[in-house]
Amino acid sequence: MTTKTLLLLPGDGIGVETMAEVERVIAFFNKKSNKAKFETSSDLVGGAAYDKHGVAITDAAMAKADAADAVIFGAVGGPQWDAVPYEHRPEAGLLRLRKDMDLFANLRPAICYPALADASTLKREVVEGLDILILRELTGGTYFGEPKEIVTLESGEKRAVDTTVYTTREIDRLARVGFDLARKRRNKVHMAAKWNVMRTGVLWREVVTATHKAYAPDVQLEHILADNCAMQLIRNPKQFDVIVTDNLFGDVLSDEAAMMTGSLGMLPSASLGAPDSKTGKRKSLYEPVHGSAPDIAGKGLANPIATIASFAMALRYSLDMADAADMIDKAIANALAAGLRTGDIMQPGMTKVGTTDMGKAIVGQLENLVG
Ligand code: NAD
Repeated sequence: MTTKTLLLLPGDGIGVETMAEVERVIAFFNKKSNKAKFETSSDLVGGAAYDKHGVAITDAAMAKADAADAVIFGAVGGPQWDAVPYEHRPEAGLLRLRKDMDLFANLRPAICYPALADASTLKREVVEGLDILILRELTGGTYFGEPKEIVTLESGEKRAVDTTVYTTREIDRLARVGFDLARKRRNKVHMAAKWNVMRTGVLWREVVTATHKAYAPDVQLEHILADNCAMQLIRNPKQFDVIVTDNLFGDVLSDEAAMMTGSLGMLPSASLGAPDSKTGKRKSLYEPVHGSAPDIAGKGLANPIATIASFAMALRYSLDMADAADMIDKAIANALAAGLRTGDIMQPGMTKVGTTDMGKAIVGQLENLVG
């Protein structure tokens, strides 16, 4: 029996409500599993941390995040903190976690549960059973490169500049994450870049090819132009397994892929850092893509699936518990197949439930799966 340590940071708004459902799932595994036990601790982040401590995350919480096998994050923010000093705004807690843990690899899966295939804007046969993963570089590229400025020219006209910069190390470390992830999936990586018109694209192709040869010749690698990738995602998304790409293209492609799965309330994500020099374990933070949803917070209406699916990603990618992750994904699919829907994914003829009942139904399906 191994023990896995988790830090839960529910945050604000619906983050608190959806994290309670993750705790329900964790309690299920602690009761039923004889392979691993979870030891959880919780702390404040975002507006909740500011109200108690005057900062969006404390040093003590950061130390816990550093020590944990994985951090599960809810959401932060809300109008009640609009006037707090900029450096203490709720998002500063999340940004500090990302920066101090050097989380450079952002994983955004797009999964289409069969029961929700008709809710997609694409045809059922195109999206049903879709399971792809976009791996986006998160700390470099066009959003951070210098110079980054708007200058006024002598003519009075303005000129804006963004600079796309990447180094071999930044590309290589992301490519390695991509190959590692593919090995836990269907063993296929597409590298998306614009080597036809961008020097950074040329370097991406060169480095990913070299990393593939040296580190992961067992994984299937294809290069695809980022614009073609955008088109292929709509035409035939199931041809992809893992798409590795830079910060800017990843931003766009992951949102495009996300649309195939329906609501924000369904979308999990993860951010990974460099492997620890002693243990080889990567720092990691798992969070739903959605925010704190002040419009529905405190009403028990939030869809907990994105946060529960984020926990399943932690099991798969940080805790070496792929079987348990598969079980959660199946339990979610079964709860949806049974016709249960939160308001955000409600369809005619289905049964509308709140946050707690969706969480309980998923745990009920887990109970069924273990028999
Ligand atoms: P949001 O994601 O909170 O909500 C957008 C819309 O989607 C709302 O109508 C909301 O009700 C709905 N929605 C989101 N998640 C849902 C769920 N699980 N179930 C059902 N419906 C859901 O985005 P926003 O309204 O732009 O931002 C609200 C606050 O959240 C702001 O303070 C923003 O800064 C913050 N925010 C935080 C994060 C984060 O913590 N990572 C991300 C985005 C926004």
